[in-house]
Amino acid sequence: MSLPLNDFRHEFEKVCQQCGRDPHSITLVAVSKKQPLSKIHEAYREKQYDFGENYIQEALEKQNALQLPGIRWHMIGPVQTNKINKILGKFVLIHSVDSFHIAEEINKRAERDGLKVPVLLQLNLAHEETKSGQTKEKLLSQWDQYKKLSALQIEGLMTMPPLQEDPEKSRPYFQELRKLAKQLGLQQLSMGTSSDWKVALEEGATLIRVGTSVFGERST
Ligand SMILES: *Cc1c(COP(=O)(O)O)cnc(C)c1O
Repeated sequence: MSLPLNDFRHEFEKVCQQCGRDPHSITLVAVSKKQPLSKIHEAYREKQYDFGENYIQEALEKQNALQLPGIRWHMIGPVQTNKINKILGKFVLIHSVDSFHIAEEINKRAERDGLKVPVLLQLNLAHEETKSGQTKEKLLSQWDQYKKLSALQIEGLMTMPPLQEDPEKSRPYFQELRKLAKQLGLQQLSMGTSSDWKVALEEGATLIRVGTSVFGERST
């Protein structure tokens, strides 16, 4: 096949072995934003079932076009309040709940529809102006309120460290995310992309979000 997915898988197995992780305990979310349907279908035929999308409209169109048994869609991009109705029930996991406000809004609609919505809370650990996500301080101060949102199933945390050439620079952020999750009693850690997934695995990631290393370059 023409996708880099197989090469990625070999590398993944190797890294898991090196850091003593069971590969089955980690979900590879293949980030398919701006990738054509044909490539997603090709990955699916190779038994890749988890896909991550950033843009709601694009994601819904792809879901419609690719109604394949067992396929699982993850929302990893920003969720606007006015789009919540469209995404409820369409994703196995929303990784990108980036404020208490959005959490409340999802909860409100989920309660109305009698749904339980599995989510991760997105952290902006480096306090970057340009990135979405809440700071650790904010999350800690709002945690008691988060816990009252009964239609949300808060499974863990997600982060996207500052983009840097050296993947080692992501390590402190991954460590911080892991500590925070532990402190809050949360299991899932969504961290690591094409540039730093190996470090993320070493630091305990349970979901890695990898785009270009499994599909090749994105079209813009
Ligand atoms: C695009 C994206 C990824 C994947 O990035 P790659 O560098 O292609 O692996 C992962 N997470 C988020 C939130 C993204 O937006």
